Amino acid sequence: CLLYPLRNGLKYHSALIAASTDPLTGAGNRTALNEALEHEINLAVRNETPLSVVIFDFDNFKQLNDGYGHQCGDLVLKEITLEVKKLIRKTDQLFRYGGEEFVLLLNSTSLTCATEVANKVRQHIANTVIKFQHEEVSISASMGAATFQEGDAIDTLINRADHAMFRAKDQGRNRVCADAQP
Ligand code: GH3
Ligand code: MG
Ligand code: MG
Repeated sequence: CLLYPLRNGLKYHSALIAASTDPLTGAGNRTALNEALEHEINLAVRNETPLSVVIFDFDNFKQLNDGYGHQCGDLVLKEITLEVKKLIRKTDQLFRYGGEEFVLLLNSTSLTCATEVANKVRQHIANTVIKFQHEEVSISASMGAATFQEGDAIDTLINRADHAMFRAKDQGRNRVCADAQP
């Protein structure tokens, strides 16, 4: 008689995970990002600790899809997610923001430290070689870092990181730009 409740419990657990996970990469999805950001902002304000985000977007990803096919693009998204997860701390969180754009949420991390983390991740991505069929492919990413400031909401924090990321694109890609300090 325990079998059905147990099975329902497991199904419920799987459904909860699926609701917050990007199915392709296993990174957190947009819903999970918003929930985590709200939680981390509350903690940062209460404990007066810094909170930073890094947004990164793969460079010329369309070209990779066009050259090697979407399956290759999908594989790159999966493999790079695994590589980034290996590099970051257990308290850091990785989310797929959409398409080929990801967000790293770094608690207790200043803008200077977030920029260092971003550079470490950026370098590792650029050095990663992914085997697809008989080819070896690689990719780079442009990144923007921003730190929570008094009065920030989720959107304003993300927007500042996004603008910094676009500056990194403008300056030639495969680099990190930090939002201007307050
Ligand atoms: P930039 O360096 O300026 O970012 O150029 P880009 O080519 O990366 O940017 P663009 O926005 O032109 O293209 C993004 C591409 O990412 C187009 C879209 O088809 C592809 N993409 C988005 N999501 C996925 C996905 O889940 N799988 C694959 N294979 N491709 C995806
Ligand atoms: Mg891109
Ligand atoms: Mg993009």
